[in-house]
Amino acid sequence: MANDDQISLFEFSQLEFSQLESHPAPPPEFDPELIPTDARVPIPAGTYQTMEQMKAHCNRCFRCGLGESRTNAVIGRGNDKASIMIVGEGPGQNEDETGIAFVGKAGQLLDKILASVNLTERDVYICNVVKCRPPNNRDPQPAEIEACNGYLREQIRLVNPKIILLTGKYAMLTLLGIKQGITKVRGQWVERDGRLYMPIFHPAYLLRNQSREKGSPKWLMWQDIQAVRQKLDEIQRGEG
Ligand code: URA
Repeated sequence: MANDDQISLFEFSQLEFSQLESHPAPPPEFDPELIPTDARVPIPAGTYQTMEQMKAHCNRCFRCGLGESRTNAVIGRGNDKASIMIVGEGPGQNEDETGIAFVGKAGQLLDKILASVNLTERDVYICNVVKCRPPNNRDPQPAEIEACNGYLREQIRLVNPKIILLTGKYAMLTLLGIKQGITKVRGQWVERDGRLYMPIFHPAYLLRNQSREKGSPKWLMWQDIQAVRQKLDEIQRGEG
């Protein structure tokens, strides 16, 4: 497929806070049943054996105020043993209503971007920094991100991806502590704790910037997703 045809698949027809704490082991006298009740209760590494267990906690979680207004907690979708994990910001209205990550327009565009390099739900696990919808799609606040951070760390531990794509500034801030603008750092690999991270544009940003000119956000995303495909192929061939 020519470059232009592939990039056209993207068409849609129609804090300031320091890097969050690492992932500690359980303290003595740790009661996992208290996790959803209080953000001061840690979520240590090894708390969950499955995403289903975590989902049950998230659906009765009031570690932050977002629990008051959620319809469904949104854990993630895709293959929970995938080599690529994609971390977004937080659920929107469609995700809140369905309980499924990235099912609205931004998610559909994300699926097209992945499909343009032959990646499907079998190849990726898609989740968010916060599991409950911020009212009116406002930005998630540092205390909300921090309250949810242990869930995200557990997801990374369970999926154990080789590559983590960070869509937008909150994913980048939360997992890499990078405060620079996404336009400056997108497309760059960062190696941390044996994994490769790449910040990429959020698909919602691409929906607002439809140009496909060389150097445009869509064109840059096309460069980035090709680099991701190439890296995955190298890893699978044992060269990564
Ligand atoms: N935007 C996100 O960051 N996550 C979703 O799940 C949906 C839209």
